[in-house]
Formats: sequence, C-alpha cells, structure tokens
Amino acid sequence: MSDERENPAAWEAATKLIRGGLARTPYGETAEGLFLTQSFVYDSAEAADRRFSGEEPGFVYSRYANPTVKMFEERLALLEGAEGCRATASGMAAVHLALTGLLRAGDHVVGGQAMFGSCRWIMNQWAPRFGIEATLVPGADFAAWRTAVRPNTKLFFIESPANPLLEITDIAAVCQLAKEIGAKVVVDNVFATPLYQQPLKLGADIVVYSATKHIDGQGRVLGGAVLGDVALLDEAYRDFIRHTGPALSPFNAWVLLKGLETLDLRVRRQTETAAVLADRMAAHPKVKALRYPGRPDHPQYEIARRQMSAGSTLIALDLETRERAFNFLNALQIVDISNNLGDSKSMATHPTTTTHRSMTEEQRLEIGLTPGWVRLSVGLEGAADLGRDIERALDAA
Ligand SMILES: *Cc1c(COP(=O)(O)O)cnc(C)c1O
Repeated sequence: MSDERENPAAWEAATKLIRGGLARTPYGETAEGLFLTQSFVYDSAEAADRRFSGEEPGFVYSRYANPTVKMFEERLALLEGAEGCRATASGMAAVHLALTGLLRAGDHVVGGQAMFGSCRWIMNQWAPRFGIEATLVPGADFAAWRTAVRPNTKLFFIESPANPLLEITDIAAVCQLAKEIGAKVVVDNVFATPLYQQPLKLGADIVVYSATKHIDGQGRVLGGAVLGDVALLDEAYRDFIRHTGPALSPFNAWVLLKGLETLDLRVRRQTETAAVLADRMAAHPKVKALRYPGRPDHPQYEIARRQMSAGSTLIALDLETRERAFNFLNALQIVDISNNLGDSKSMATHPTTTTHRSMTEEQRLEIGLTPGWVRLSVGLEGAADLGRDIERALDAA
C-alpha cells in the first residue's frame, strides 16, 4: 500500500471533469453545493478586518468570488492545464475582459477577419472609443499577421477554428511572433473545446471560453471564462472584475459544473458523428464545398493536425446559393434551425442572414462567406437519424 496522494493534474480529462475543484462542506453532500448567496458573514469585527485585508482567506462578496463559482473555475483550470481561471457571466463578458484588461489607449491589437460577430464589434467599434486601434487580417495567412505588426502592437487575438467557415490560424506561429515583439496572445478556444486544443501549451497567454457552448452544451445557461497564469490574471483582470462586475451567477456556475461532468462524453460522441456526417455530406452532389477540420481536404489541415487532436463538432457546407441553403434548412426535420452551437441538439444556421448579417457584403467576401454557406453544429442524436435527415434536406436543396 502506498500513501501517495493522487495528483489531479495527472488525471485523465474525464476524471478531472468529475472530480476537479470539488470542495465539500461539512454536510458531505454528493453533488457540488450551490451557494446562492450574495455576501458572507464574519464571527467578529476583527475577522471581517482580517478577511478584507487578505490576511485571512475566505469569501467576502459574490461579485469578487463565490464557492460554487470557484469550484467551476478550478475544474475548468484543471482541465485546461491553466494555473488560474476567472468565470464570467457570458462568453462575451470573457472576451471583453480578456482584451480590455490587456490593452490601454494608444495600443494596437491584431485579430483574424473571421471571428464571432460580437468579438469583431469589440475590435472594430468599441476598442477605438478608448484609443485602441485594431487590424483584422486573414487568419490563415501567417504572413499577414506579421505584416500587420506596428511599433505599438500589444496583443494578438486568435479564434481558431474561426466562425463560421472554420478557418484555422497557426497558433504556435503567432505566439512566437508575439514573443519576438513583446506582445500577448489571447485565444478564443470555443470551437475546438479544451479537449482538443490547449492554446496555453502552444504559447498563448490567455484562453477564453463561452461556456454557453459545449461546456453547458444543453441549452440552459450563459457563462464564460478566462484562463492563464495567476500572476497575469491578477494583474490584468482582478480589479476590473471586482469593480465592474462581470461575475458569473452561482446558479449558472452550478449548471456549468454539471455540464463539465459530461463534457468529455458528449463532445467525443458529437465529434465521432460529425466526422461521419462530414464524409457523407462531402460526397453529396448538392454540396459545392465542405469544411471540417478533421478532413484532409480542409485548406489548413496540416496546421489543424498539429494543434488539434480531433476535428470537433462543427461543419460548414456551401450549397452555392441562398435559395438552396434555405431549402436545405427548411427541409430538416430533426436538426433545428438555430444560431447556437456545441449543444446536444444538432443545429444549423445560415450565417449570412443571421450571425454575420451585420457585416457588409465586402467584409463577408473577405472571409469567403457567400450566401450558399450553412454552418452545422452536430449534436448527440443518433448518427443514422441525423444522416437521413441531412441527406433528405440536401436532396431537397
Ligand atoms: C458564442 C461565442 C462567443 C460569445 O459567447 P456568449 O456566451 O454567447 O456571450 C464568443 N466566441 C465564440 C467563438 C462563440 O462561439
């Protein structure tokens, strides 16, 4: 018998997702405790004094920290292999926090042209109000990231695979460039999930998630997270979180903890089905082009293979015209028409008229987004049922 303690950092992902961050109260509850409390009480005035000075550990107010939220942060950090994690109310709160905490007036940030619509708004519309300049480049073209660098470039913001056409950016190469010029790198890792891509290991400083997507994965709550070294999280984000309040609700954190428990199971099954469906759709005569990071015909397949361990759960397909795309969507009987992704329910969306409608046509053409494209998020339904539904809808396209 050995009295050696288990090292959680060495666990398999599946174990981390069930056991990570679990902090039981003296009641010995099985499931994670849900601490729906705004604030905390102290045994004495002296104890409050010590708590506020930081001399004594503990919670003071749920805008700063909360036991249920902390369990979620610790579990996600363990999975990511990150020193620390700060949870936020939504993915956009996480992206906003991640970027603004690292930038100030006079700085320049470089990002990919293809990215989640609201992230693009922060870069193009919001950041300039505070004297921060942004340049958007074709994310798959590494030379363009280098060419965009200016003397005041302080940050690179990468989304890979990017929304909606699953373009891949070489994360390690951009991180290397960042090191050369003393800039930081933030990666929005939603599409790959923490199971298939670990940007911190590739040299990134900060990883952000919309926990709304695969982490909940069951259509219930919004949430987000920012992960990285504790020193950087403290320096860049601690005071911002305390004083501006993007805090995650303890209830939502509890739901997300339950989501994490099945993340490995769900995402692996969804990915298996996605790979099968991608091959089947690619062979259909109505499909003009198809992008799936797990297929050798993906334009950045070599990079995808280096930095992702699987193709994940999203597929983009080009049906040539908006009319065919609409016919396809309208003929689906199982798959929902919805702009969400990473869910247990399969969902298909037409980016041009939904998620990417605020872009100009010129901007859409820059990222190759023509009206025939549909984005499919593969869920947990049976692969044969999904295959039949999609095949029928393609025939109807
Ligand atoms: C959904 C999403 C976001 C925003 O997350 P919310 O939780 O909806 O605020 C940011 N980035 C990517 C890549 C997303 O898919």
